[in-house]
Amino acid sequence: MSKDVSESVVHLLPRLYVAAGLTIGQGAPLTDDQAHYLRHVLRRDDGSLLRVFHPQNGEFLAKLAHQGKKSAQCVPQSLLRSAIPVTQRRHLLFSPLKKDKMDILVEKAVELGVTDLHPVVFQRSIVREIKTERITAQITESAEQCERLDMPVLHPLADLRSKMQQWSKDIPIYAAVERGDYPHLCVAVSTSQGKDCAYLVGPEGGVTTEETALLLNIKSVRPVSLGQRILRAETAALYGLSLLDGLLGLGKP
Ligand code: SAM
Repeated sequence: MSKDVSESVVHLLPRLYVAAGLTIGQGAPLTDDQAHYLRHVLRRDDGSLLRVFHPQNGEFLAKLAHQGKKSAQCVPQSLLRSAIPVTQRRHLLFSPLKKDKMDILVEKAVELGVTDLHPVVFQRSIVREIKTERITAQITESAEQCERLDMPVLHPLADLRSKMQQWSKDIPIYAAVERGDYPHLCVAVSTSQGKDCAYLVGPEGGVTTEETALLLNIKSVRPVSLGQRILRAETAALYGLSLLDGLLGLGKP
């Protein structure tokens, strides 16, 4: 730990993802948004301390160096946490939702350990497009806030059929299917310890009979129930992800 900050308060320092990569003693550029946030929102001067991370390099205590009015860089001073390779990928396949619900879904999915977000258009999806830039910013912000060291991946939007055609047969998909006689997710996941896995949730209007048949025909798909109550799509996503996070016993990657 640097002599500039005590261990008990290091978690109070701003924490930013730096895409350029990080090496002790070498300045790394911050984005204009990050520079603005540090200078004008948090009012941090040159030399202020912050935490910066990159999935391949780890997390560092760094000093801020403003460059002109709009730009800034960080200079890593000491390593706080070494990079940890992600040993289990956890995929979420979900229908795009309306604005607020989508915001909550993305933020919480990242907090709950999803490594791969797959927006999927179902027959009954009401929202049929995604705002890639907005979602990417939310993923980054949520990863910064929840102290992950990795950065979840946003996959391109695809319809259910093509997503299933491209899917690796080695990655089981726990597909939440409402109104069926399927084992509860808690029972079904017991075989996935330590392995990559996926969780699929349908749109607000539910999965059609045709889509259910498509899913049931795929070997890697395990249909699951979430219990007697019919949950809203975002509740079903977050409930299932919470169960997975607990049952798979990994906590945050
Ligand atoms: N409109 C549908 C209906 O009334 O049957 C409900 C769809 S639900 C709002 C959205 C998605 O959440 C479903 O497609 C399913 O993936 C998941 N879901 C909600 N409740 C569930 C349950 N009890 N069991 C399994 N999946 C559920």
